[in-house]
Amino acid sequence: MTVKVRFAPSPTGRLHVGNVRTALLNVLFARSQGGTVLLRIDDTDLERSTQDNEDAIKADLTWLGLSWDETFKQSERFDKYEAAKQSLIDQGLLYPCYETEDELDRKRKIQRAQSKPPVYDRAALSLTDEDKAKLDAEGRKPHWRFKLSGGRIEWTDLVRGPSHIETSSVSDPILIRADGSYLYTLPSVVDDLESNVTHIIRGEDHVTNSAAQIEIFEALGGKGSAPAMGHTALLVGADGDKLSKRLGSLSIEDLREIDGYEPMAVCSLLAKIGTSDAVDARDDLQQLADEFEFGKLSRTPARFDPEELKRLNAKLVHAMSYAEAQPKLAALDADGGEAVWLTVRPNLTFVKDV
Ligand code: GLU
Repeated sequence: MTVKVRFAPSPTGRLHVGNVRTALLNVLFARSQGGTVLLRIDDTDLERSTQDNEDAIKADLTWLGLSWDETFKQSERFDKYEAAKQSLIDQGLLYPCYETEDELDRKRKIQRAQSKPPVYDRAALSLTDEDKAKLDAEGRKPHWRFKLSGGRIEWTDLVRGPSHIETSSVSDPILIRADGSYLYTLPSVVDDLESNVTHIIRGEDHVTNSAAQIEIFEALGGKGSAPAMGHTALLVGADGDKLSKRLGSLSIEDLREIDGYEPMAVCSLLAKIGTSDAVDARDDLQQLADEFEFGKLSRTPARFDPEELKRLNAKLVHAMSYAEAQPKLAALDADGGEAVWLTVRPNLTFVKDV
């Protein structure tokens, strides 16, 4: 089997340390296996996706050395998603629902008051063709839900080990909104199938989606067509708390342009935190790839400490040859020649400190 992974950012903002870790782990795994990387731009949200963000994401990945073998945008593939929608309707697995947000909210409140989980009651499944025709004639626009099997979905997660979700405990997910727009769930499966993705590596905030997606994979691609999945623990701050707003939104652009970090400091830190390896700087991605193993990834959150990032950066700068430093020094208008560089570099944390 030739390994193929994908990194699928939504171009609704810039890359930050959290989503870059996902990109990095995908690339390291692919390189460790001689596999390929697909960069998929998840821009089905036409309102919030911008070309500017897409360009910035590609620039950030390129700066970090995270190259891809293939790329495409979801917004160019709506015909494929329409075909998948029709296939699910034909199989009785996608059904129209007409409840408004208020009605759904009321249902959930009643369920909560009765100490029941707020799972969608599937009332729309009992609508007759006549009922639906009437609602359509009134101009009501349905949203569409995927009908989960109600059974137990099991998979062996590459990071979390044997995993399962009882689909009876979750609501049938909405795949298409009333305005006709697609949530990411269905297009992602359609593309993963068509691109022959073999491994999905993403943050553990996607675990619940995975149950629905495994069932959608099987509905569209047949039994066993779901790729292997690995859900990585999320990043937390140095104190173990949720990443603070500032850190959580720490953009790669700022790390590069404002702070002046070396790309390998960022990659080394993000590759090593939350693993059984010591956190240390590496000179290139291939070394990180050679050391990559799913078994080293911990299920507990990875601690992101900016002080540690500085330490790795200083280490890389202290060992940086004049040949490597020279273009950076020239750009800073601070090139005093090799002897000066070798004398001052042990005192620097960033090249710009020169
Ligand atoms: N566009 C989705 C996200 O950024 C992709 C999730 C996935 O990897 O499946 O969250």
